[in-house]
Amino acid sequence: MEQDGKGLVIDCGQLSPGGVVDQAKLDGCEVLLLTHFHRDQCGAASQWVREGVQVSIPFSEKRFFEEGDILRASYDIYDNYPAYFPTFSPLDDVRGEPITDYDSISWQGMDFQAIPLPGHTFGSTGYLFELDGQRMLAVGDVMAAPGKLHEYYSSQWTYMSFRGHVNLLESLEAIQRLEVDWILPGHGVPFVAVRSLISRAGWSSCMKCTMRSRIDPTDRSSRSCQNTCLKWIQQRIPTS
Ligand SMILES: [Zn+2]
Repeated sequence: MEQDGKGLVIDCGQLSPGGVVDQAKLDGCEVLLLTHFHRDQCGAASQWVREGVQVSIPFSEKRFFEEGDILRASYDIYDNYPAYFPTFSPLDDVRGEPITDYDSISWQGMDFQAIPLPGHTFGSTGYLFELDGQRMLAVGDVMAAPGKLHEYYSSQWTYMSFRGHVNLLESLEAIQRLEVDWILPGHGVPFVAVRSLISRAGWSSCMKCTMRSRIDPTDRSSRSCQNTCLKWIQQRIPTS
């Protein structure tokens, strides 16, 4: 985003150090907001810090930005089943400013509010702001396109658990309730936030629907599963 020759970036990808310098100068970049710790989103962030850019990181994933190597070294082979890529944090530690849920950052007269959107990762954070009278929500990897998740398997926070799935459904519900005009995904192109297509992303990931359609591809009941899948999953989570 550019304003009066200054720039703000949400997620920076994995540009080479030289590429970062060029990009940061080109955009006059002052602020970098990060949505989650996955390396494909923030691999170059430490270089942006060295360039003097103010970098914001979700507070709940602080350790994954600041102590990636220690965490990678501490996993043992018998604890390596979760699919949310706990070791996929940046290779260089990122020392940013932690931002907490619903906190705001002001830049060039605009406010960017941190919206908790756990699911893709446990600390995934969206950024809500208004541009030219339109409400925008940058969602990281929670969604990739209308009715489509970036991918599903990252929501397996612990082996064979549904905690990430339940949080993902709740985050999609939260996105709907924000009634934004546009959604800006971490992968893919910005798209109009059509309410029904946000909820579809949730039930297309529903394991019950997926299982049903695998068992019987002609089963149409998955189309009406969206209201019951959360309950179905919750029933299978131990209450203790
Ligand atoms: Zn990701």
